Amino acid sequence: MGRDKIEKLWSLIENNYLASDKEALQDSFARHLEYTQSKTRYTTEAFDSYKSCAHVVRDRLMERWNDTNQTYFNDNVKRVYYLSLEFLLGRALSNALLNLGILPEMERALADFGLSHTDLSEIEPDAGLGNGGLGRLAACFLDSMATLQLPGEGYGIRYDYGIFEQKIVNGYQTELPENWLRYGYPFEIIRPEYQYTIHFYGNVSQYQDDQGSLRNDWLNTEKVMALAHDIPIPGYQNDTVNTVRLWSAKSTREFELAEFNIGDYVGAVEGKINSEIISSVLYPKDDIPAGKELRLKQEYFFVSATIQDIIRRHKVKNPSVLNMPDKVAIQLNDTHPALSIAELMRIFVDVEKIGWDKAWELCVPIFAYTNHTMMSEALELWPVDLLSNLLPRHLQIIYEINHRFLNNIRQIYPNEEDKHKRMSIVQELPQKAIRMANLAIIGSHKVNGVSHLHTELIKQKLFADFHDLWPEKFTSKTNGITQRRWLKLANPRLAGLISDTVGENWITDLYELEKLEPYAADASFGEAWQKVKLENKKDLALYIKKQNGIEVNPYSMFDIQIKRIHEYKRQLMNVLHILHLYRQIKNNPTTPIVPRTFIFSGKAAPGYYMAKLIIKLINDVALKINNDPETRDKIKVVFLANYCVSLAQQIFPAADLSEQISTAGMEASGTGNMKFTLNGALTIGTLDGANIEIKEEVGDDNIFIFGLDADQVRDLKTSGYNPLGYLNHSPELHDVLRMLVDGEFSAHKEDLYKPIIESLLYQGDNYMVIADYQSYCNCQQKVASLFQNQAMWTQKSIINTAHVGKFSSDRTIQEYADEVWGVKPVKPKIKQGRKSMK
Ligand SMILES: *Cc1c(COP(=O)(O)O)cnc(C)c1O
Repeated sequence: MGRDKIEKLWSLIENNYLASDKEALQDSFARHLEYTQSKTRYTTEAFDSYKSCAHVVRDRLMERWNDTNQTYFNDNVKRVYYLSLEFLLGRALSNALLNLGILPEMERALADFGLSHTDLSEIEPDAGLGNGGLGRLAACFLDSMATLQLPGEGYGIRYDYGIFEQKIVNGYQTELPENWLRYGYPFEIIRPEYQYTIHFYGNVSQYQDDQGSLRNDWLNTEKVMALAHDIPIPGYQNDTVNTVRLWSAKSTREFELAEFNIGDYVGAVEGKINSEIISSVLYPKDDIPAGKELRLKQEYFFVSATIQDIIRRHKVKNPSVLNMPDKVAIQLNDTHPALSIAELMRIFVDVEKIGWDKAWELCVPIFAYTNHTMMSEALELWPVDLLSNLLPRHLQIIYEINHRFLNNIRQIYPNEEDKHKRMSIVQELPQKAIRMANLAIIGSHKVNGVSHLHTELIKQKLFADFHDLWPEKFTSKTNGITQRRWLKLANPRLAGLISDTVGENWITDLYELEKLEPYAADASFGEAWQKVKLENKKDLALYIKKQNGIEVNPYSMFDIQIKRIHEYKRQLMNVLHILHLYRQIKNNPTTPIVPRTFIFSGKAAPGYYMAKLIIKLINDVALKINNDPETRDKIKVVFLANYCVSLAQQIFPAADLSEQISTAGMEASGTGNMKFTLNGALTIGTLDGANIEIKEEVGDDNIFIFGLDADQVRDLKTSGYNPLGYLNHSPELHDVLRMLVDGEFSAHKEDLYKPIIESLLYQGDNYMVIADYQSYCNCQQKVASLFQNQAMWTQKSIINTAHVGKFSSDRTIQEYADEVWGVKPVKPKIKQGRKSMK
């Protein structure tokens, strides 16, 4: 093709842009219905309309996406890559409409066809490629990076099956596969041009090269292809559209010759398909490593494809990998992608033939590692046997990293054998295994915790030896959430009231909400605020009626605990308080009580016996209390099935009280706590994770804090905690537990809850439920009496929202960009003739 002819094509494309007025949107919508989807007036269903609408939006994202990518490429900017095995993205359509700034116009366009964008949005399945907080954090970070116009890209796995769908049957959790891609996902673009070969198994062969240096080749491997699928991540009305690139496993096109030769063509193809299971399913465990070979395969598959892609992109614009630290920052979301460090070293040393010392010097400034948990049982530990079989060369490299590291620390800390053992990447006993956290710390230039308390605890406890060696490596980055999704989209009523009162700048600068403070004591503003909450509660009440068939009173206090079901999060303590209230009413039907609706939602890992038993208990308690004429008008208990991002968006806006009651020292940060505060709920919580910082921001008078703090928990544990001792001093608690033992809630199976009693009383109550119980009940009483003063409650609610500014993920990301990644904002250059949004 001649140059002028190429120009003809590209000027046609680049000098054009799609208009977004009502008529243009309608025209696009109609075209997609017919030309993309082949629909007629007789065959169009709601899903088709959703899909057409998604395509209308996608077209408009595409222009800005290409301009953004070209700008990053042309300017050869430093980029940050956020590596995460989980992205809990939720729905894309309404978010894209909002960020493109075409939500009102789309509403008008669809209204002419008798459609509504909210109805269509709700047809979209959630992209649920994560378990909970860690995956949702990654999604909020992508949103903030795009909104801050940072050249940031997410990398992950395109699981065919995201987090399972939870159904409650007879009060028990059951799991159903979540085939979210079943009808196609309009927001992804397949990129067949980006495919990489991923190697597994095989052996390492050593040889001398021409210069006489010892070299290693990884040979006789099994191969799988990684195929890129890109999802656009639009910034808020700023022309930036970043990318999250998800890898899916595909078989290679080579045949196993043995099978092929004996004529078993179908058998050979079947063998290929087997390799594609690598990207088939997300492991549904939150905070507990799976330890399975398939999981390790997923981790390496993801890491290898990503590192190859990063190096390919780097080399297009740079003469060699030697300046990579100037152009590339890689953030490891937990240790799941920590094999990246070994993979990058392997490529530098074996493929690029760079000397070890130089390679290491390039590697460390590129990586940074985020730790997400204090619980040592949650740290990844890969048996050496597994690694030596699956990734023999990487194991050698990890040994080499460790060998050099240990040599260093033996010089710094001579005669401290125990310290060397603790800091080694290799655990020797009870079985030889690789400590992924140690690898991540040694291979990174920064290590961060996700709240002040968590960072202090990892510095002083979990990673104390490393902090001693490299104090400057450790940094604190308190988590955040995106206000675009968690207020603007989730709670349009409150967002509207806020914008009418203090303007719209809060959408990109959450500290602007401080301007609400003067209105906290304003009676008419308070009434408007209260009205919004009531309307939101009525909406949720309708949903509860529809889903659970339970009638709830929207004027009752909505007391909500929604998060993964985990013993350390202590849903059980919440239940014990409900039983306490139930007993109170039963024993004394005339005592006045503040009506409450207790709402729970959350998934348990399918193999987590205690967590599943707690779900059953909540549902049994609900059944009994909701049907007891003496109690049902005073307290109601609701378990909403299938907690996910889109359900969360419906629940947070309706909350009066946020339950953040983890055992102090165990919740690294929490982000649900921030979503509640943003939406004007008051918190009852322990001094744990980011609760402490929420307390600092909103003030002691506007939050309910109870229970032991992290130091007291530790002291009590070391001095010998005896839950039975508490029981002897509390006849009330004794009676509450008695109800469980007596089978009052488990009519057909008397000792159903025996394991709960055992764990609380005879197995040490590891999560200190008994120790905190009384303090929690007392605190709940204060909550109740404040709720009786609605004006005062509302005032505190407004103050909570007004002081939530710090917890925007925009603030978090700005800190990472400045202090960890060294990346700067880049404005996309909009092609001539296209209209910029700013
Ligand atoms: C925010 C969020 C979480 C994290 O909640 P925590 O209370 O911080 O554990 C988990 N799942 C979903 C769907 C969320 O939106």
